[in-house]
Amino acid sequence: MATCPECDAEIEVDEFDVDKGDQLSCPECGSNLEVVGVSPIELDIALDDDDDDDDDADEKEDAEDEDEDDDEKEDEDLEE
Ligand SMILES: [Zn+2]
Repeated sequence: MATCPECDAEIEVDEFDVDKGDQLSCPECGSNLEVVGVSPIELDIALDDDDDDDDDADEKEDAEDEDEDDDEKEDEDLEE
């Protein structure tokens, strides 16, 4: 038996069924909980940012090609 750190509900967790680092959700408040200890079982609130490995991949700067058309427009105006 463990206690939800968020709402203090008792959660049935078999210490032989879980490992440190396992995640489960509280049936009472729905919080994502992480097993931080198994004897006795301790639960902590799990944070939702498991995707932080790919933060760097999308930060390419692609704002450099935007003003290439300006010269062509000026040429057309001068032809008359
Ligand atoms: Zn709870």
